[in-house]
Amino acid sequence: MKSVLKLMACAAVITSLHTVANAKDLVVGVSWSNFQEERWKTDEAAIKKALEASGDKYISADAQSSAAKQLTDVESLISQGANALIVLAQDSDAIGPAIEKAAAEGIPVVGYDRLIENPAAFYITFDNKEVGRMQAREVFKVKPEGNYVFIKGNSADPNADFLFAGQIEVLKEAIDAGKIKNVGEAYTDGWKPENAQKNMEQFLTANDNKVDAVVASNDGTAGGAIAALTAQGLAGSVPVSGQDADFAALNRVALGTQTVSVWKDSRELGKRAAEIAVELAGGKKMTEIEGVTAFSGGPKGVEMQSVFLAPLPITKDNLNVVIDAGWITKEAACQGV
Ligand code: BGC
Repeated sequence: MKSVLKLMACAAVITSLHTVANAKDLVVGVSWSNFQEERWKTDEAAIKKALEASGDKYISADAQSSAAKQLTDVESLISQGANALIVLAQDSDAIGPAIEKAAAEGIPVVGYDRLIENPAAFYITFDNKEVGRMQAREVFKVKPEGNYVFIKGNSADPNADFLFAGQIEVLKEAIDAGKIKNVGEAYTDGWKPENAQKNMEQFLTANDNKVDAVVASNDGTAGGAIAALTAQGLAGSVPVSGQDADFAALNRVALGTQTVSVWKDSRELGKRAAEIAVELAGGKKMTEIEGVTAFSGGPKGVEMQSVFLAPLPITKDNLNVVIDAGWITKEAACQGV
């Protein structure tokens, strides 16, 4: 059975085609929070491709995980002539003044992937609570009882709590019934794998290595947690979740050391964000954006105009989906299998 699934994963690659929008000669400034992470490079390529197709210009800055630098980055993008901004916020609260400045100058802002709870910003993301549910569901299928550890995201990123809320929603019944015990839960400073690894090491020590399942909130933190499990000879016997369909994570899924990654096709997210930024700069109202929906599920309950894309869990059983979609080659996914 196992080898049949591996073969299924080694199917042909189909490259998707992208549509072309209208040329407007606008400048779109993108402010990245932590560009060193693998996933944002795919997002950037998609934004650039969409802007190239519409004849608009891409400029960018990387805050390198500094909320303070991101404020000056946005100012600099504005002074370079940005007609619209796409902002991946490092800290959803600290970014406030930059959003106000853009709004005062009539520059539309698209809050990218992470919520910026200000109605002056449009919000485009994947359904993050659903991502959390998917992570917990797959781990729960493997370990319906035992000691669970939660490796959460960066505390200044609202996605960390959306994900955790989805995870707990799925596990609540088993927790209440005493089947699942939460033996460790920690935010991961800056979403950094090395911080996730440290937290995981501490949880393993505190529980005499009796950890049965790890709900990690993204692939980077999953990698850190798996490094800690590997050091204790536990990798592969403890289910671990993630998200982003990072190449290393998909390979771990194929090898069996990671149970699930959640694929959010950032080629689509980047494309839609670029199109929306151009449309808003061209005078379209937020409520006129295709697929728009009102969202008020943030910590402050502010009503935001939003677009949500659908995530998809990737396990060993459907690894072929990301290969067929041209996201990863079968060689990269199946390396060492
Ligand atoms: C994103 C994840 C990403 C994480 C770390 C989250 O806000 O939704 O896809 O892995 O940030 O950058």
